[in-house]
Amino acid sequence: MLRVSGWFYDGRGFRSGTVGWEDGVIAETGPGRARDPLAQGLILPGLWNAHTHLGDAVVTQELKGTLEELVAPPHGLKHRVLAKAKDAEVIAAMRRTLATMIRTGTTGFSDFREGGLKGLKLLYAAEAALPVQGVILGRPDGLAYDTREVGAILRASDGIAVSAYVDWPRADIEKLAADVRRERKIFAIHCSERVREDIDAVLDLHPAFLVHMIRATDADLTRCADAGVPIVVCPRSNAFFGLTPNIPRMLRAGVELRLGTDNAMINVPSMLREIDFAYRIARLKGQVPAQEIFEMALRGRQLSDPDATGAIRVGAPADLMVLDLPGGASGFASIMRASASDVRLVVTGGVPWPQLAEGGATKRRPRRHTAHPSSR
Ligand SMILES: [Zn+2]
Repeated sequence: MLRVSGWFYDGRGFRSGTVGWEDGVIAETGPGRARDPLAQGLILPGLWNAHTHLGDAVVTQELKGTLEELVAPPHGLKHRVLAKAKDAEVIAAMRRTLATMIRTGTTGFSDFREGGLKGLKLLYAAEAALPVQGVILGRPDGLAYDTREVGAILRASDGIAVSAYVDWPRADIEKLAADVRRERKIFAIHCSERVREDIDAVLDLHPAFLVHMIRATDADLTRCADAGVPIVVCPRSNAFFGLTPNIPRMLRAGVELRLGTDNAMINVPSMLREIDFAYRIARLKGQVPAQEIFEMALRGRQLSDPDATGAIRVGAPADLMVLDLPGGASGFASIMRASASDVRLVVTGGVPWPQLAEGGATKRRPRRHTAHPSSR
């Protein structure tokens, strides 16, 4: 059995003690310090990045222009670069980005993958042999519905995620979402990022989650809360385009929030940086407890396991990060200030990540396609 000691997150707060695991599963938690721990410090569950576009990592130049000019399909900069890029370049860029995620304590993520069936294959090639759990959502190559294309994408993915309701002909996006539902997979969509969209039309598509909701009204947010549809916020991405999510207002409406880093060409996919920024931006609009921001960085794992809590407990997957920071009552505050240089160890699927990086003895995590639990 491998062990780490210090202060570990038990779902409510930080307890002094030791966490041990074997065969990829946490096998013991308890008080007392292990004699020869792999690392000591503040012990967190692996973070979950609830929204990425890893393919964008192939765009490396300085970005100038509006949201539409940079990311809107089909002619935004990212789509032009992705269309021209060689497969090997896109794979290498996504692989580099995945390695950054693992190094900064993220052991799971949910990606909106562009480029149709081929786009999915490139991401699977990038992910191969990396110990990270991805919920991969593809999308049709164009902005139109084709039954055979959608069937092929659904067979090769965890579901489908598209740019925005307003980008699609209404009948087409309805058929698309219905196919996803029939296959009991995940449908997700950006919503009300630069303009307010019709929340009833979007919720009628039965999304597993929405991304952004910057322009949502209080009533729109309440509709999401009532429908049990979580919202993923990406504050660094929004700030890049001069937008600010109102996190306290979203929480007051009763919405469940998750945190994501969005486009890899805009933000390094470090959840530690997203947590830091989300905490600051929340303070601009009021006050949000550090624990709430931290839990926003854990909840995305419910996409692959609806019962997952993120708490470090016996039987949970051995996905952990150890930070060289104070614990106890200061644990949550420590996380708000954490950076990559504080990371002492990342454990993903029971395997310590630095060991993997040095030895090259990579072990592939089993891939599971997830049936979305609340598919209606
Ligand atoms: Zn996005």
